[in-house]
Amino acid sequence: TESSVSAAVKSGDSKAAGHADNPLVEVSHVDKYFGDLHVLKDINLKVTKGEVLVIIGPSGSGKSTLCRTINRLEAIDSGVIRIDGEPLPQEGKDLTRLRAEVGMVFQSFNLFAHKSILDNVTLAPRKVRRISKDQADKEAMELLARVGVDSQAKKLPAQLSGGQQQRVAIARSLAMHPKVMLFDEPTSALDPEMINEVLDVMVDLAKEGMTMIVVTHEMGFARQAANRVVFMADGEILEEGTPEEFFEHTKTERAKDFLGKIL
Ligand code: ADP
Ligand code: MG
Repeated sequence: TESSVSAAVKSGDSKAAGHADNPLVEVSHVDKYFGDLHVLKDINLKVTKGEVLVIIGPSGSGKSTLCRTINRLEAIDSGVIRIDGEPLPQEGKDLTRLRAEVGMVFQSFNLFAHKSILDNVTLAPRKVRRISKDQADKEAMELLARVGVDSQAKKLPAQLSGGQQQRVAIARSLAMHPKVMLFDEPTSALDPEMINEVLDVMVDLAKEGMTMIVVTHEMGFARQAANRVVFMADGEILEEGTPEEFFEHTKTERAKDFLGKIL
């Protein structure tokens, strides 16, 4: 994985653009419970425009829940989440619009099985952004070309490989023109030979300046594409730093232990 991920991402110039006091995503004092289970414990996180934040940590530490709260698929119990300065409402009609600002790609590709690849990409933009079929088709074909699957546009998801389906899922998210993209273990369900084709698309997105939050166990991607790495365990952020700081100067025993197991 490591070799395929270009080091040019981090040395790129677009990355210093954001300001810490003007974050695109701000998670502030967020707590989340599932019944008695305290899943997110006073989480504080800022992601600036153009930044790639990688979240790692053991299974069950709350990484997916954190992503789902940022996309408001899960309500929070206290604290506030702001997207581009706007607090995420916990309910109401603004929710659909705000959710469209946050793209999300899951481990399971979640494509509509009975719709063509093209329809999978155009469905939401036509409904939510209310653009014409022609415009939606044109944009979708451009996005499918960008992720390298435009020749598959007329097929059904099951006719594509897992790697191709996940690239379609990325194109589908991009079709909503999100301000930030969340990736929750996007390569975990893929056969090994397909992991790189998805990571390469993500690296390209990062190079183009997309703001990204990525939960992954792909440490090659984290080392080379991340501006910042966050380590979570038991619902808490235990460490946060540049990839160099985190991988070369790991502070907590918990993180050292985790890295020892996966590397
Ligand atoms: P991770 O993505 O880091 O593996 P998750 O966010 O999926 O962690 O889960 C964090 C904790 O919350 C786990 O203990 C999990 O079992 C629990 N959990 C996740 N979703 C639910 C839910 N819908 N209801 C109850 N418990 C949940
Ligand atoms: Mg998870």
